[in-house]
Amino acid sequence: MTDTKTDVDDTDADASTTARAREKVVVDGLGKRYDSDRQTVQALSDVNFSVGTGEFVCLVGPSGCGKTTLFRLIAGLETPTTGDVLLDGEPVTGPGTDRGMVFQEYGLFPWRTVRENVAFGLEEQGVDGAERKRRVAQMIDLVGLSGFADAYPKELSGGMKQRVGIARALAVDPELLLMDEPFGSVDAQTRDMLHGELLEVWAETGKTVLFVTHDVEEAVTLADRVVVMAADPGRVREVVPVGLERPRVRTDAAFADRVEHIRGLIGD
Ligand code: ADP
Ligand code: MG
Repeated sequence: MTDTKTDVDDTDADASTTARAREKVVVDGLGKRYDSDRQTVQALSDVNFSVGTGEFVCLVGPSGCGKTTLFRLIAGLETPTTGDVLLDGEPVTGPGTDRGMVFQEYGLFPWRTVRENVAFGLEEQGVDGAERKRRVAQMIDLVGLSGFADAYPKELSGGMKQRVGIARALAVDPELLLMDEPFGSVDAQTRDMLHGELLEVWAETGKTVLFVTHDVEEAVTLADRVVVMAADPGRVREVVPVGLERPRVRTDAAFADRVEHIRGLIGD
């Protein structure tokens, strides 16, 4: 009897080790407090969730619930007050090329062409010559900007700039793509197009994506699972599996159902 029990425990331990190994990101008891002379803000309190390898997870919640703070902690741009972010089981201690970042404000270098912007991370990594040229061309092609390689950011629309941002983030072949309200500055029609393109890139590359938005419909359009957050202090309210075939149709009853459920959690 004792032996049998031991066997069962071993199996469970193996299974949970394997499951953890497949998790690209584990957010474990994460808290962040900002202290200044005038005030203290508990931006995040005991946040727990994980993102599986190859999974597309959206973080959604009202303004001020700590989405950007969480993004910056995972990116390694901020240090937690409590808890940890684990990337492939290792605590994050700073930024790294294993995480590609895309921001709402495009963050492109205005003095560099599309090609030179996309090449930036590769230059930093010391990838040069034919290999750099090949990777840059491949990324520009992936986001559908082949005719614009020599254009400057000011010559591009918002949607095109954001495609450059995505190509630049992917050029160094990060395993995790972190996106903070990346399509917040583009019009609705362009946003729909970018959603389709991003999902294609995701399917083609097998990257893990963590996508921050305050737009519930955007989250339900994109995600495998939606981490719904609440404010004061920033925390996870519920993790909602979307469970709908792609491409998703906003007029479907099941789509509306998920949106309504999440809006109910957020309380708007
Ligand atoms: P969201 O991205 O969901 O809108 P943020 O992470 O930007 O939320 O902000 C969460 C809370 O933390 C807000 O109350 C915000 O004012 C505060 N906060 C964010 N960054 C800082 C900072 N650098 N210093 C002090 N407070 C901050
Ligand atoms: Mg934000």
